[in-house]
Amino acid sequence: MSIDLHVHSNASDGTLSPAAVVEAARAAGVTALALTDHDTMDGVSEAMAAAEALGLELVPGVELNTDRTWGEVHILGYFIPPDASGFYELLARRREARVRRGEKMVQRLQELGLRISFDDVLRIANGGAITRPHVARALVEAGCVASIEEAFARYLYTGGPAYVPREPFSAFDAVRAILDAGGVPVLAHPGRMSEEGKKLIPELIEHGLQGLECYYPEHTPEDTEHFLALAAKYDLVVTGGTDAHGPGSTHDRRIGSVSAPPGAVEALRERQARLARGRR
Ligand SMILES: [Zn+2]
Ligand SMILES: [Zn+2]
Repeated sequence: MSIDLHVHSNASDGTLSPAAVVEAARAAGVTALALTDHDTMDGVSEAMAAAEALGLELVPGVELNTDRTWGEVHILGYFIPPDASGFYELLARRREARVRRGEKMVQRLQELGLRISFDDVLRIANGGAITRPHVARALVEAGCVASIEEAFARYLYTGGPAYVPREPFSAFDAVRAILDAGGVPVLAHPGRMSEEGKKLIPELIEHGLQGLECYYPEHTPEDTEHFLALAAKYDLVVTGGTDAHGPGSTHDRRIGSVSAPPGAVEALRERQARLARGRR
């Protein structure tokens, strides 16, 4: 029996449909599952229906990628109400902004005389967030450069001829957006953050962060212990999840192979209720 509060479906960059994710979770003995696709909650209703049919608890969730000033900072949002229309509009804007950025980079490369198409980039991104490595891979496939490194060194480096900056969206913005929507913001895989990023955690807590993903496949026992202590110190909800993206994906972790502590879902619910009381 396990509780997996971080999984992806093909609503973002996972390989399984939301219903198939739930079935895989059930087969792995998962009793409670959170679907946390990147910048979208479009898979939640399908997952919810499948979970109901299989007698599994499904927590609606989302994962927001934020700017990399401090390295990889991802914020999970749980229990965002279905009527939080402002939040869903924000997600749509974030997705559009990423497509536009990809298109602009391809356009600049085309203007430089490189034969690369946006369709190739889309195919390589496979439904996920379009990022510079996807554009770099398209350049390699098209024979414009010999390697991803060369694509970055010649065209895509920050400030380079085909570089397009992202629309700024910080980890603080993400925490705030989830709180405003009535959800519970949790820091994903803190062990994967840079040392610079880890120093940011107290500031994120000041901005309203409510939980820490202490249990994660890539965390060492020392990481887990460290983050558990931090969660206790700051009264944060302890969560955990596999970040499984399905068979054949780059993050092919077995769903349910890492578990949040028993009571984690209740703790998130209580936190949501506490936040709602605070707003009244
Ligand atoms: Zn992540
Ligand atoms: Zn994830």
